[in-house]
Amino acid sequence: MTQHFETDSRQMLGRLRAVMAEDAAGQQRLDRITQLIAEEMRTEVCSIYLFRDEDTLELCATEGLKPESVHETRLKLGEGLVGRVARSGVVVNTDDAPATRGFRYMPETGEEAYSSFMGVPIQRLGETLGVLVVQSKQSRRFSDEEIYAVEVVAMVIAEMAELGAFVGEGAAMSARHQQPVLFRGATGQEGAARGHVWLHEPRVVVTNPIADDPARELERLHEAVETLRVGVDRMLSTAASGDNEQLKVLEAYRMFANSKGWMRRMEEDIERGLSAEAAVEKEQSAARARMGQVTDPYLRERLHDLDDLSNRLLRILTGQGQETGAEMPTDPILIARNIGPAELLDYGRKLKGVVLEEGSVGSHAAIVARALAIPLVIHASRITTEALNGDHILVDGDQGVVHLRPDDSVVAAFRDKMAMQAQAQERYASIRDKPAETLCGQRISLHMNAGLMADLPSLEGSGAEGVGLFRTELQFLVRAHMPKRAELSELYARVMDAAHGKRVCFRTLDIGSDKVLPYMKAVEEPNPALGWRAVRVALDKPGVMRMQLQALIRAAKGRALSVMFPFVAQREEYTQARAEMDKALERERILGHPLPETLEVGAMLETPSLAYAPDSFYKEVDFLSIGGNDLKQFFFAADRENELVRRRYDTLNVSFLTFIEHIVARCATHDTPLSFCGEDAGRPIEAACLAAIGMRMLSMRPASVGPVKSVLRRTDLGELREVIHTARADGHQSVRPRVMEYLKGKL
Ligand code: PEP
Ligand code: MG
Repeated sequence: MTQHFETDSRQMLGRLRAVMAEDAAGQQRLDRITQLIAEEMRTEVCSIYLFRDEDTLELCATEGLKPESVHETRLKLGEGLVGRVARSGVVVNTDDAPATRGFRYMPETGEEAYSSFMGVPIQRLGETLGVLVVQSKQSRRFSDEEIYAVEVVAMVIAEMAELGAFVGEGAAMSARHQQPVLFRGATGQEGAARGHVWLHEPRVVVTNPIADDPARELERLHEAVETLRVGVDRMLSTAASGDNEQLKVLEAYRMFANSKGWMRRMEEDIERGLSAEAAVEKEQSAARARMGQVTDPYLRERLHDLDDLSNRLLRILTGQGQETGAEMPTDPILIARNIGPAELLDYGRKLKGVVLEEGSVGSHAAIVARALAIPLVIHASRITTEALNGDHILVDGDQGVVHLRPDDSVVAAFRDKMAMQAQAQERYASIRDKPAETLCGQRISLHMNAGLMADLPSLEGSGAEGVGLFRTELQFLVRAHMPKRAELSELYARVMDAAHGKRVCFRTLDIGSDKVLPYMKAVEEPNPALGWRAVRVALDKPGVMRMQLQALIRAAKGRALSVMFPFVAQREEYTQARAEMDKALERERILGHPLPETLEVGAMLETPSLAYAPDSFYKEVDFLSIGGNDLKQFFFAADRENELVRRRYDTLNVSFLTFIEHIVARCATHDTPLSFCGEDAGRPIEAACLAAIGMRMLSMRPASVGPVKSVLRRTDLGELREVIHTARADGHQSVRPRVMEYLKGKL
């Protein structure tokens, strides 16, 4: 038989607040809470389970189960009905618990006597902290109203746990944000850093989750939402008209700010006794929990927008601004969900490291972090909810690992790692002015990749002979508007000045795919990496490329100029792009500007098709540069930004090496200068192999020049070539194990 009992959630919250106000220890508080919930819900049992580690829940307080089972009964995530609630984040409500899928009999608690079961996750901002359970002997299914009441209580318990209200004995009741936490993310930029947390978006802390005057709280909510709406409208009216991404976000803000459903849910929460800010946070938490389950990128973005909007609303309600009064530490490690390139550049070289919850290897933020040479870890899930400003933190960009509030043994190991790196740096500094000459006497030309003015000082320090790849799109990406020709020409001139006569190879704008300019009309493409990008855009809409070529010629002021076109897939694309260069030269000549004393115009080989272009192409180009990042993704058909596949295929796979050898041979036949400028050029083992199969010029990030030079100077290319050939002849898929064996002691 199903019976309904009405619960007055406002009364329950009122009593809860009284318990919170009592001067009691954490355990006592939890005990009192389970007691009062059982009373209010008219159930024999109320229990609170909290996580003691990532996947174990511990019974921390109970009214009705055997007291001796408290702190003794433990469940794995997913185990029993409680474990199921914790894992799924979804309420379980049944009138026949023993017959329900997943039920697990725990003799020590004596719970077999209870038929009805309702388990509600205790969640804060999408993170499950534990499970709140009510049980009764009588077979009854709890009403929606009752579930809602328990959810509201669970939310308040989560809030109190965050504030340290239940600190007591044992791991499950330890204070939050004090334990060491290890985050396993992915490498965005190599390197190690030690410092203190600086949150890009400081969190709002809700200290008053329960309110006793709903009318007043509703008024506060309405006023705050009105302020929010006015603010969003103002942002919309001043937003850059061409900035589609920004407009999309602001439109989503407006939609949510006017959403009746969102408003109604918050009003209902307030009527049940929550304060206005707790109601906002409850909705925010629900959106975050949904975010974890949604895979559709568009929906995820919108849920993020709702999250941002909730933060804005919380700031209005609490008066806690972006400025929390906290002082940036002297060794800041920036923690953010995600960050744009311009914002990251604003922090500049102050930062010791960056950790993002999202991001991608090819994102603009990653490119800027690389340019600034700061370690970056991406995909550090949940770090923005766990880290607090000022927390001690170690970032291992090589492994993609972050240690938050590390214990002494981790700190000691990390210190050793950093000391070893410092020693290696000293070794590299001692060979900085020596050539990258191998044991067999072959000179390899090492250049660096750059994309910002901030990169140029590294040219001296790294020992690079020049800039083999200057990615010009960064200047376009970090601006809100299309840069003017005069601005670009001034910047390029400064880059050439800073290079002091060393070669700088400017790559024309490489946009499309992952690099979308905020102020250009976005094109919806099913497969952007294979889509309208780089030289394809430049040839179809030549205005920007013409402006850029003119800016480059003017910047050269009669000096030598080196330019290459990205993503050329067939000869005609190069021919047409080169014709644009010729036209630009002619225009500049007529206008009376000095022409470059020498000009070399090359192409990037980033698609397999170009390796098989006609001989005439190889004769026509002044040089070729292999963009290994793209070339490899198309060779193996494996997205360079997809974590599921991007590490699957080794650069030292014999198929890929044989393919590169083919390109080397064709370039040799036609005397076409060839270089390699993808990330692999900066990895010592890969670089040595590329040199062994005939590559004579490598361009890499500045910090890699030392390590690559060091290994090349200890390597005999003839011997290494032999190792590669033998491994291939022996049928190995990758030559890496044999090469590693050979290079042992040289790295
Ligand atoms: C490449 O593809 O290897 C390359 C150097 O270009 P980007 O990484 O900028 O696409
Ligand atoms: Mg590329």
